[in-house]
Amino acid sequence: MMNRRNFLKTTALGLAFAASPISFSAFGQATRKSAGRPGRLNLSFEPYELKLRHAFNLARNQRTTTPGVQVRIEFDGITGYGEASMPPYLGENVQSVCDYLNSLDLGQFADPFRIEDIHEYMESVAPNNRAAKASVDIALHDLTGKIMGQPWYKIWGLNPDKTPNTSYTISYDADPAEMKAKIDETEGFRIVKVKMGVGHDKETVEALRRHSDVPICVDANQGWEDKHAALEMCKWLADKGCVFVEQPMPKEMIAETAWLRERSPLPLIADEFLQRLPDVARAAEAYDGINIKLMKSTGLHEAHQMAILARAMGMKVMLGCMTETSCAVTAAAQLSPMVDWADLDGNLLIANDIFDGIKIVDGKVTIPDRPGIGVELLG
Ligand code: MG
Repeated sequence: MMNRRNFLKTTALGLAFAASPISFSAFGQATRKSAGRPGRLNLSFEPYELKLRHAFNLARNQRTTTPGVQVRIEFDGITGYGEASMPPYLGENVQSVCDYLNSLDLGQFADPFRIEDIHEYMESVAPNNRAAKASVDIALHDLTGKIMGQPWYKIWGLNPDKTPNTSYTISYDADPAEMKAKIDETEGFRIVKVKMGVGHDKETVEALRRHSDVPICVDANQGWEDKHAALEMCKWLADKGCVFVEQPMPKEMIAETAWLRERSPLPLIADEFLQRLPDVARAAEAYDGINIKLMKSTGLHEAHQMAILARAMGMKVMLGCMTETSCAVTAAAQLSPMVDWADLDGNLLIANDIFDGIKIVDGKVTIPDRPGIGVELLG
C-alpha cells in the first residue's frame, strides 16, 4: 500500500537509481524497468490500492478496495502520469499489470510522440492487458500534452463548453432511511444512474421518484435474460423519465438484443459487449450506442478513434470509467466534449485520491485548464 509520501519517496528513489534499474520484488516496493537514459522514455510504476468511500454491495460479498497501479513516464525532465485500475471482474490484477509493465522496454523509444508505434509495440508484447496498456497510454498523453503545453481536448480541437453532465450511480437498499440517504447524495447531479438486474429494479426507481424528478439512466449489467420482460421494463422506464438503458441483456444474446432494439422506446448502449475499436462495428448490429472506458480501450488513443467511428456510424457515445483516481478519470474527461453521456464519477467513489483534476460543476464535467491530461499530484 502506498500513500502519497511513499509515492514521492519511490520517485526520488527511482531517480537516484536511474542508472541502475530497480527490479520488482514485492507489492509496494519501487519498480523500475528502463535505466533512465537521457533522451529516452523512462517508465516507473507502483501498486496503489484504492479505498472505496462506501463498500460495494455485490450479490455475494462486499468490496471495500479496488487494486490499482500508478504509472509515470519521464522524458527530458518532464513527467507524465498514468494509471491502471483493475476491478476484479475484468481479469487483470496487480501482478498481471506489473508483470506486463516489467516486460516492456520503453527505453528503446526516443520520441514520446510516437504513440501509435508504442501501441503497436505494446500489442506485440502481449494481446490483452488492456488496463496495463491504458496506464502507459495515459502517461504518454500526459507527457506529450505537457511538452506541447496544451490539454488534449484542445489538441483534438474540442470545445470544453460542450462537456456533458455526468451521472451519479445509486443502487437499491432495503432500508428506506439508507435508500433516502443514497438519493440525497445525488443532489446536484442532473442525471442519475440506477443499477438494475439484481432484483428490486422497480422499487429503486420508485424510491427515487418519490424524492426527485431528475432524468435517470439504467445499467442492467446484462441482468435481463427474457427479451419480452426486457421490453416491458424499457417501456415502463421510458414513462419514468429514463433516457437510455446500458447493457440490458447478456452480451452473448446479440439476436435478442437486436430484437429488443427494434421495439424499445429507449436507446440501448453496449458496455460489457465491447472493449476496443473492432468491437464498434459489431455493436452497431444490436445497440444504438457504446460505452467507452479507457481501461477497456487501452487508453485515449483508441478511445478517441472509437468515439469518431461510432459517431460516423450514427451511434450514441457514452464515456465511462472504473473506480479510479482523478488521474484516469480526468484523462477520460478530455474526450468528453465528443460524447452524448458521461459516467465519470469514479474518483468521487474513493477516499484516497492522490490527484487534483476533473471537477463536476452543477452536474457538468469540467476539464481543468492544465496541459496534458490535466492533473496535478496533490501536495
Ligand atoms: Mg455498465
